[in-house]
Amino acid sequence: MTTHRHDVLVIGAGNGGLATAARLRRRGCADVGLVEPSLRHVYKPLQNYVGLGLADARELSRPQADLIPDGVTWHRTAAVAVDPVTRIVTCADGTEVAGGDVVVAPGARLDWDAIPGAADAVQRGMAISTFDDALLERAWERIRTLERGTAIFTLHGQPASGRETALKPLLLACDLWRREGVRDAIDVILVHDEARLHPVSAIEAEWWRHLDDAGVDVRTGVRVAAVEGDDVVLAGAGGDERRRVDLLHLLPPYVAAPVVQASGLDAPGTGGFVDVDPDTLRHRAHPRVWGIGDAAALGDARTGGALRSQTRIVVENIRHARAGEELERYDGSTVAPVATGAGRLSFAEYDRSGALRRSLPVRARDQLRAHRAWYVLDRHVLPQVYWHGILTGRV
Ligand SMILES: Cc1cc2nc3c(=O)[nH]c(=O)nc-3n(C[C@H](O)[C@H](O)[C@H](O)COP(=O)(O)OP(=O)(O)OC[C@H]3O[C@@H](n4cnc5c(N)ncnc54)[C@H](O)[C@@H]3O)c2cc1C
Repeated sequence: MTTHRHDVLVIGAGNGGLATAARLRRRGCADVGLVEPSLRHVYKPLQNYVGLGLADARELSRPQADLIPDGVTWHRTAAVAVDPVTRIVTCADGTEVAGGDVVVAPGARLDWDAIPGAADAVQRGMAISTFDDALLERAWERIRTLERGTAIFTLHGQPASGRETALKPLLLACDLWRREGVRDAIDVILVHDEARLHPVSAIEAEWWRHLDDAGVDVRTGVRVAAVEGDDVVLAGAGGDERRRVDLLHLLPPYVAAPVVQASGLDAPGTGGFVDVDPDTLRHRAHPRVWGIGDAAALGDARTGGALRSQTRIVVENIRHARAGEELERYDGSTVAPVATGAGRLSFAEYDRSGALRRSLPVRARDQLRAHRAWYVLDRHVLPQVYWHGILTGRV
């Protein structure tokens, strides 16, 4: 079999893969290959707005073919396994592609089967989620038409893509119901499986402020154990509780892309996420394999905001490693943008140590405190920056 060889091969053309390929080209890498089966590219942060009727579904996605950076070779197939030593990638269409260096960026997958009854509840329309782009129309319909009853929203710990943004549909729905005059007729419950709402105290305090204002009943240390008919089984330290719900919004369970484990690139105990050194993004055992984005074992750094640093650093580190130079360090910085209602948003940024960070060029205003400026940035400015700056390697 002929193996097509590239100087650098990127697996996955999502946010991380496309931005990395574009940055590699801008830094002079002449031969970049991309392996990606999907013909459609979704800007996921907009899903929370489409599902709340605040953005048009047509803004959400673009044809993948329009986004592949100039000079990058697109292999329109899925990677099935990577030989980490030869860096030959076996693809679903039977072809083989190799890279001098390989950047693994296949993201993470939703796994509705991880909660008994959830897949069926989603199918029946009983459960909704703005985290599944196939469910956005239904999510908006259900939220828009709810007038009374019990609404449960969920948040959970890692793994999850952009997990903190699961507060967006909750707070935006409360805002809508308040404006429609039905808020008092709806019991709104937030269920979170961890002991604290957020590990960073300042972010947690800002979240509590908005959840209290919205009158949300917050249950920490509790998870949705099963969905049975119109009932949800909540499990916590105090035992199981069965609740009849009128609206169930789930942050879906997530699993790793199978190609990582199939290639022996996974970190022990992570369920199949890429075993990278969190400082350098280099695979711990295979120095010419790199991991970024939702696919990597990088804790809470599963956001597009985190990828803005990661894609720059991985490209620089491939260059440094080849030149025998010291590698750059990634501090784990990531974002937690939460729309809080009334056209406001808290744009928190923090790093692996739990320290608050600021990467936005706008310095005048506190980013953590919800404000109209951050909403405009997140809803209207960042989508344009994404299509024209991030995916083209400029930002
Ligand atoms: C609803 C939602 C809202 C979000 N909101 C925000 C936000 O407001 N701010 C923020 O910063 N982040 C947000 N995020 C997180 C952000 O979108 C993700 O962290 C980011 O998209 C991850 O990029 P990625 O390249 O790692 O993975 P993805 O973007 O998921 O891309 C992975 C790509 O790999 C491909 N692939 C999968 N398997 C294979 C294979 N075997 N071979 C080849 N290709 C493969 C897939 O088809 C896909 O194109 C949100 C996420 C969701 C779901």
